[in-house]
Amino acid sequence: MLINPIEFFRNLPKKQCSECGQQIDEQAESYLMECDRCLANKEE
Ligand SMILES: [Zn+2]
Repeated sequence: MLINPIEFFRNLPKKQCSECGQQIDEQAESYLMECDRCLANKEE
């Protein structure tokens, strides 16, 4: 059975920020484990 890439992404569990627990919606940044806000805080 072929895996439809769209179905594959739909079936991925929603990611949560490892810092604050906020849901991360941006699939493009799937390598990130924190939300934008926590990442910005870590910049400094
Ligand atoms: Zn966060």
